Amino acid sequence: MVDCKDVNCPFHGKLTVHGRVFKGVVTSAKMHKTVTVKWERKYYLQKYERFETRFSKVKAHNPDCVKAKEGDIVLIQECKPISKTKHFVVIKVLNKQKGNSNQTIKS
Ligand SMILES: [Zn+2]
Repeated sequence: MVDCKDVNCPFHGKLTVHGRVFKGVVTSAKMHKTVTVKWERKYYLQKYERFETRFSKVKAHNPDCVKAKEGDIVLIQECKPISKTKHFVVIKVLNKQKGNSNQTIKS
């Protein structure tokens, strides 16, 4: 068990999660307890009758007990606004379950 004293943690703190859930890749984990998560979505262009790939990028809270690193595939969920640009929280790191997460990213 990780000793988690984060009040903005959905498991040990007082943060309640609700709303949409997204799966994305952590592109930056340099900020204090914050990660940037990016995922792709398909946007339909009526003129060409085809889909175009567009990206969504949001900042998400990274609690002590989750500790998502750069390159991780994470599950994020909407929550109350934690700061001006942050209204998502990382609820799960998905590639940790398979093991050897660092090796799979490099290769
Ligand atoms: Zn926690």
